[in-house]
Amino acid sequence: MKIIVLKFGGTSVGNLKKIAKVAKIITSYINKKYKVIVVSSAMSGVTNELLLKTKKISKNFPDEEKDVILSTGEQISCALIAGKLNELGFKSRSWLGWQLPILTKGNYSSSRIVKIKKNKLINYLKSGGIPIVAGFQGVNSDFRITTLERGGSDTSAILCAKFFNAEKCIIYTDVKGIYTTDPNLIKSAKKINKISYEEMLEMASLGAKVMQPVSIQEARLNRIEIDVRSTFSKKIGTTITRKKNIFSKNTIRGISFTKNDSKLTLIGVKDKPGVAASIFKPLYENSINVDMVIQNISAESRETDLTFTVKLEDLIKTRRLLENNKSIKFKKLVVNENVSKVSIVGVGMITTPGITYRMFKALAKEKINIEVISTSEIKISVLINKKNLKKSVEILHQEFKLNNNL
Ligand code: ADP
Ligand code: ASP
Ligand code: MG
Repeated sequence: MKIIVLKFGGTSVGNLKKIAKVAKIITSYINKKYKVIVVSSAMSGVTNELLLKTKKISKNFPDEEKDVILSTGEQISCALIAGKLNELGFKSRSWLGWQLPILTKGNYSSSRIVKIKKNKLINYLKSGGIPIVAGFQGVNSDFRITTLERGGSDTSAILCAKFFNAEKCIIYTDVKGIYTTDPNLIKSAKKINKISYEEMLEMASLGAKVMQPVSIQEARLNRIEIDVRSTFSKKIGTTITRKKNIFSKNTIRGISFTKNDSKLTLIGVKDKPGVAASIFKPLYENSINVDMVIQNISAESRETDLTFTVKLEDLIKTRRLLENNKSIKFKKLVVNENVSKVSIVGVGMITTPGITYRMFKALAKEKINIEVISTSEIKISVLINKKNLKKSVEILHQEFKLNNNL
C-alpha cells in the first residue's frame, strides 16, 4: 500500500470554506492512487478558548479533565472534514485517539505517543476509506484521554507516518514552508528549500512555532522526511531531511525568537558550594524548565548575583518557590517580563570562526544591549529587551545574509 500522511493545522481548517479546500487537497492524493491518512488540528483559536474556560472556572482545574476538554477541538474539525469528503462522494470517517487507540505515556498535557495500533486503520484503508485522525490526543494505560504538548498534531502526524510506514508525510500549514525567520514578523524572510533535522529542531525549540519540537525529534529518530507547505498555495515548500542531503553556502540558516520568556535575578546570594543546586531543586521538582543562566561572582563580598530565565507562564510559580525557599538567602529578587530571546541557528557554525563576534558586533552597532547569552554547537542565543526584538532579528538577518538564500 502506498500510504501518505497529510496533516492540516489550525488555520488550514479555520472555517468551513477552508475545510472544503482541505477536502479538495485530500482527494487530489486519492486521485494519485495514494492511501491517505489525514491528521487534523482543531480549528484555529479553539484550543485556546477551551483552555481559557478551564482557567475561568477553577484556579486548579484537574490535569486529567483539562486534557478531556482540550482534545475536543480536534473532534470537531475531524468530523467536519470527514463530513465534507462524504458529501464529495468519498468514504471517510473520523478516528479519535482512544478509538484506534493511540497509546501514550507520561504527564497529562505533555504525554508522549508510544504506540499506534494499526489493524483497524489498515482495514479501513483497504476498504477504500479515508481516515481522519484527531491530532494532539491519545489514551493512557488508565484508559484516560491525554494530550501531547501544544502544537502536538505535528507529532501525531509524524508518528502516524512511522507506524503506518508511510511513503511521505506532508505538513500543510498557513505559510509556504520553513523560512529563515518568521515571515509574519520579517517581510524579507526567505523560504528554505531543504533544512536538516538538527537545524529545524533548534529553530523549533527556540521559538519557531511552525513545527513542534517533539515532532522533529521523532522524525529524526525514525528518518522520516517531512514536507512543509501551504494549504493555500501550490508552491513547493520545504523538505526537512538529513544533513547529508543539504548543500548550503550559508553558515547561519535561520533566526528564531521568543516572546514568552521572563528573567529573574537573585541579588546578593551567599556564594557557597551547592547554592545553585538549592535554588534550582524546587524548580525542577515542580517541572519548571530553567533556560538561560548567568552568575556574577563578586570578588570581595562572597556574594553572587544569579540570573536565569523561565517561561512567562511559570513566572508566578517560580517567584513563589524562590521566596519560600528556606535553604537559600538573598537580598532581593528582581523580575523582568519585557525580554525576548533571539537565536541564530546553523550546523555550519561548528566549523566557522567569528560567528559570535559578528552577532555581538551587529547588535552593538545598533546599541542593543545583550542581557544573557547561551550557546551550543549549532546556535547562539541572546536575551534582549522585547522592544528591540524586530530590529534585532532584522539586523541579524542582514548580517548573516539570509536575504540572499539558499
Ligand atoms: P499550524 O496551525 O498549521 O500548525 P502554526 O501556527 O503552529 O501552524 O505555525 C505556523 C506559524 O509559524 C506561521 O504562521 C508563522 O507565523 C510561524 N513561524 C515562526 N517561525 C517560522 C519560520 N521560521 N518559518 C515559517 N513559519 C514560522
Ligand atoms: N490544537 C492543538 C493546539 O492548539 C494542537 C495543534 O494545533 O497541533 O495546541
Ligand atoms: Mg502548529
